[in-house]
Amino acid sequence: MTTVARGGIVTGATGPQPQAGEDGAGRIGVHPSELRDARRSPHAPCGRPGLLGANGATAVAAPPGGRPGPGRIRRRRPVAVERCRPEGETGMSRTTPPRPQDPVTVLPELVGHGRTTTRLHPRHGAPGVGDSSIGGPLLWPQDEPWPTCTEPHPRGEGYLLRDVEQRHAELYGPRRVRISPEGRLIPFHPVPRALHRPDLADTDPLPLLAVAQLYRRDVPDLAPGPDGCDLLQVLWCPFYLHGPNRLELEPRLYWRRSGEVGDVLAPAPRPEVAGPGSAFAGPCVLHPEQVIEYPDLPALPKAVSGRLTGGEAERYRAALGVAPGWKAGGFPHDHEAGPPPTRCACGAALTLLLAATYGEWDPENPTWQPVEDRPGRVRLNAPTGFGVCEGSAVQIFVCSDDPAHPHLTWTRL
Ligand SMILES: [Zn+2]
Ligand SMILES: [Zn+2]
Repeated sequence: MTTVARGGIVTGATGPQPQAGEDGAGRIGVHPSELRDARRSPHAPCGRPGLLGANGATAVAAPPGGRPGPGRIRRRRPVAVERCRPEGETGMSRTTPPRPQDPVTVLPELVGHGRTTTRLHPRHGAPGVGDSSIGGPLLWPQDEPWPTCTEPHPRGEGYLLRDVEQRHAELYGPRRVRISPEGRLIPFHPVPRALHRPDLADTDPLPLLAVAQLYRRDVPDLAPGPDGCDLLQVLWCPFYLHGPNRLELEPRLYWRRSGEVGDVLAPAPRPEVAGPGSAFAGPCVLHPEQVIEYPDLPALPKAVSGRLTGGEAERYRAALGVAPGWKAGGFPHDHEAGPPPTRCACGAALTLLLAATYGEWDPENPTWQPVEDRPGRVRLNAPTGFGVCEGSAVQIFVCSDDPAHPHLTWTRL
């Protein structure tokens, strides 16, 4: 299922318990029945057709003492921000192997249409507020309210976030002993789905999840922010219960000048319960890498894309077109039945700001798997834990003319 939603920008400022297998195949917050129909290709839908919709303007928390918008950045005393090393790593980079075939030899019309994207390569770690990260701590001003969801929807039933985080660490963190001295299998931490907070009303303020923090210095393909901001922060609701089809997370964007953030809010508020569908991601450090990619097959003119059929078309989509995984910039993942938006309300073209996906590569055709991750350095191909299956994706688009225009979000579960 895909949906599209419109949002705004602020400047300045799993049901029954998942059964994790011995090989670590269990996934956070996802019931096995949810995975039954999941296909393995990063481009494959998760058993739901594409769908397009719009949910109107997204409410955005304003900075204290003023309305949101360009020019509302207050100068504060900068603080020294410590950058952290990932757990068990020493700043290892990631390298995508060359494409198995040059896309322009397959479709000569693509000559000159390649575009760079920055693959973020998130891997489990312990990022700090001075790091670009997925699911890490944000460089959030101490005196700025943490954004909350107040839209009416249930918020007490789901998974306890602390259980989800512990399971994530077990699956993606440093390897641990899984067999007791008595030779018994040590089970994964349970993640029971339940009505954990029956006291919460449907409109009680719910802290948003910190999803991504990207410093421009780390991400060359990060779309321009307003007023020279160098830091993008993305948060969303822990429940897929937004939009006309109640399937969206309603991402919110916050752009800042990092050098003007003074004291940092710590610890940041967090939701206690997260809904099914794995809105949670991280904590992961990033290993950004710039690669060239080409439009997804459904985005090409029929006269061009129609020349690739069957296995050729699958091969193009799997290995030659759009890079899978979390990335900034480049071409969006497309879907015949629910294409992503292309135009802002002002008429200008849209730019892909951020793609959040489940898988980083196809386990059965790991052409996009970085060479440093072979063999077996990364146990699973979905290190953030976000999403339901290989096709899960949230893509956020911004106006190419004015970054202050509302963003659009394309969601596929
Ligand atoms: Zn919500
Ligand atoms: Zn616009």
